[in-house]
Amino acid sequence: MTRHATTIELGALRVTLLSAGRIRLDGGAMFGVVPKALWARLCPADEENRIDLACHSLLIEWQGSDRRALVEAGTGNKYAEKERVIFALDPSDWLLPNLAAAGVEPASITDVLLTHLHFDHAGGLTHDADGRLAPSLPRARVHIQRREHDDARAGHTVMTLTYREENFSPLDGTGLWNLLEGEDEVLPGVRVMPTPGHTRGHQSIVVSGGGRSLVYAGDVLPTRHHLRPAYNMAFDLDPLGNRAAKQALLTWVADHGALLVIGHDVDQPIVRVRRWREWFELEPAPDAVPEAAPAA
Ligand SMILES: [Zn+2]
Repeated sequence: MTRHATTIELGALRVTLLSAGRIRLDGGAMFGVVPKALWARLCPADEENRIDLACHSLLIEWQGSDRRALVEAGTGNKYAEKERVIFALDPSDWLLPNLAAAGVEPASITDVLLTHLHFDHAGGLTHDADGRLAPSLPRARVHIQRREHDDARAGHTVMTLTYREENFSPLDGTGLWNLLEGEDEVLPGVRVMPTPGHTRGHQSIVVSGGGRSLVYAGDVLPTRHHLRPAYNMAFDLDPLGNRAAKQALLTWVADHGALLVIGHDVDQPIVRVRRWREWFELEPAPDAVPEAAPAA
């Protein structure tokens, strides 16, 4: 099987797009108050009314350094058969096998940044190792907003079973949690920017180098079809807050000529953003064209 890797050079930083799983979620829930007659034209639903979503991760590497970071851990593989069917999960398509296919040792990852702790973003943090739950990235510090961590542990969400202790508790007592308070330069050239709304502690990740930036939006803008102001998920804790965060993020990306990574978009995960009329439009990013990697 040939794998396609997209790699972007930002000065001394190299960013590679990796798959951390794939999931199907109810199309109605993914588009909130938007009528199906509108969203189904953009994202065709299957016979169960689900739409297909990617869970993209980023691998960040620094020239001349052993530091290696990941953005997002994806779905993971800790699911019973019933959930695998409901979410159309492929047990072989998650973080660890995909890192292995890319030739990356899990223990070589020093840092992982998550936008928030819902299961399709944090599920890959832990896995079942011979009947015992263990961190999947045993050395990686996990950078997350303190508010997100606390809300996750308190189950503060409108979506049932999306914050799961099995994804967090194996990290307790390891010293791996790094709980952040607002905007922060977590690693050289890697900054987090609070974008609350989907969850109260949601953050987006900004990677900069060589005068260029790339922004991983997270669920503030889950697919490129969620560009418009009213297109938000029924899962959002605060829809108006999410809209404001989306506008601020798109403004920043457009004004800085940055690349935007759209975490759940199946077809076009990396785009550019341009101001257009009162809002924005997305355009393909010509410098983020996939190149074929050697067969895995
Ligand atoms: Zn998500």
